[in-house]
Amino acid sequence: MSFTLHGLPVSGGIAIGQAHLISQATLEVSHLVIAPRQVEKEVARFDAALERVRAEFEAMKNSLEKSPADMRAFIDLHRMILDDPELSEVPRQIIRERRCNAEWAIVQQMEMLVEQFERMDDAYLRERSYDVRQAVERVVRELAGRSDHVANRLKKLKGERLVVVAHDLSPADMMAFKNQDFASFVTDVGGATSHTAILARSMGIPAVLGLHHARQLIRDGETLIVDGARGVLIVNPDPRILEEYELRKTQLELEDSKLKRLKTARATTLDKIKIDLLANIEGPADVEAVIEYGADGVGLFRTEFLFLERGEMPGEDEQFESYRKTVKGMDGRPIVIRTFDLGNDKTLHVEEAPGGRKRVNPALGLRSVRLLLSDPNVFLAQLRAILRASRYGKVKILVPMFSHAFQVDQTLALLEQAKSSLRGEKTAFDESIEIGGMIEVPAAALAVGTFLRRLDFLSIGTNDLIQYTLAIDRADEQVANLYDPLHPAVLMLLSHVIGSAEKAGVPVSMCGEMAGDPDFTRLLLGLGLRQFSMFPARIPAVKQRVKQSDISAIEPVARRIARLDESAKIAEQIERLNAL
Ligand code: PEP
Ligand code: MG
Repeated sequence: MSFTLHGLPVSGGIAIGQAHLISQATLEVSHLVIAPRQVEKEVARFDAALERVRAEFEAMKNSLEKSPADMRAFIDLHRMILDDPELSEVPRQIIRERRCNAEWAIVQQMEMLVEQFERMDDAYLRERSYDVRQAVERVVRELAGRSDHVANRLKKLKGERLVVVAHDLSPADMMAFKNQDFASFVTDVGGATSHTAILARSMGIPAVLGLHHARQLIRDGETLIVDGARGVLIVNPDPRILEEYELRKTQLELEDSKLKRLKTARATTLDKIKIDLLANIEGPADVEAVIEYGADGVGLFRTEFLFLERGEMPGEDEQFESYRKTVKGMDGRPIVIRTFDLGNDKTLHVEEAPGGRKRVNPALGLRSVRLLLSDPNVFLAQLRAILRASRYGKVKILVPMFSHAFQVDQTLALLEQAKSSLRGEKTAFDESIEIGGMIEVPAAALAVGTFLRRLDFLSIGTNDLIQYTLAIDRADEQVANLYDPLHPAVLMLLSHVIGSAEKAGVPVSMCGEMAGDPDFTRLLLGLGLRQFSMFPARIPAVKQRVKQSDISAIEPVARRIARLDESAKIAEQIERLNAL
């Protein structure tokens, strides 16, 4: 049966492929068929993982000797759950009978048990379904291990055009797919500027989020059409629709290749003002796209993505190697390396460990520079790694999420400490390296003078700035309709920051999603922005808009727009501005 679902259009383009269903978030497991001679090995892998989790429970219990009794009782309960033959024996049978991977076997069995618990009348027993999930989750994590990540296992599927269908995908999950040949992603939850959406865009593949029930309604292997620009998902399309979409897909690809011809053209306005079009990247593998799309440099290297899919913080040397590789790949073009922006939705597994405490409000919690300053050794190691890489090219350091002046002062003191330790070791680095701060908290935008006085440059992160200004969780599809880059309050902040930086003679760029949307290019040019950083694939369309713009004509209009206090009027005026 054919049907259509509507969600949030987060990454444009058209994809046609087969559905590949992924289980929920942490219990994300793929179904893999195991070769007959590998079956006993898979059973042994399952047994070993179970044994490691049991040992882990034992160690936890011992270390909790003096903790409250109910904490120990909890661990006992989880241990009992895993000792039950339903979870220790039945998955072994499933692996043997269905020749499937251990993760899939235990999750299938878990889902069956959870369903039984949930049907029980007794509220206490119903609640136990959570314990079953949590206990199984530990085993699944153990099975996934560090070297045997889901991405490695999925390599077997490479080459087919697959559309990943999931309830949710965390940024760490997404990183596991980064090197896979997937046609598209669709999920039930997630907002338009969630990091999941950002990664889909950076991979240049169509994606639709916030589809609500896609994971439930779609079956593995069904044919799907994903229209990323319109946020539409068509399941089992009839041949006429399929043909129509195949044609549109070819047309889009043609338009893209035409735009790409702008690669070597300079991004100069009609009145001869040179605009820097920079790229947002997540690692050395993206350098190829930076060059391919003709970026002037990298305006944002989100370093946390390099290490997000693994379970531990990388050491200084490992970071240095990744940064050096990226810097060298840039071949002299400038590169802005942002220090770790972890916390909130971007978490390493190790971070979840301390006490297993679930934070109430992670976007407002120990995230980003706050987390870095709370662990100066981690921060110092990263600063040293970046400094060491700075001798291989034009490197600048960018620190995310400043809100207080003392955070800048502490960061500068740590940078000085990192420099002097390197001098002591006679390690070369760029002595005059510039350090900038992201403006993504409304307080920092309003009190921007504090940051202009202390830093060499600023970069506006509109994704977070909008989230915090409008009190909208950028990853929550239920409030996605309220996420509005053209809200008068947002424009007032942008205009204030860009204008103040211009007056102070401090360079300011923008690296949030707004910078890569050609519909906002003229408005931002008119407000005085001269550096835009975006996904490499966005550069040609923005460049085309820059080349068609006359700043002297659009400046007065843009300044008037930024003073309006009605969203509808703003949208109408921007449409006119774009038609000039
Ligand atoms: C932003 O907030 O706009 C930004 C560029 O940072 P990130 O999207 O990584 O939070
Ligand atoms: Mg941000």
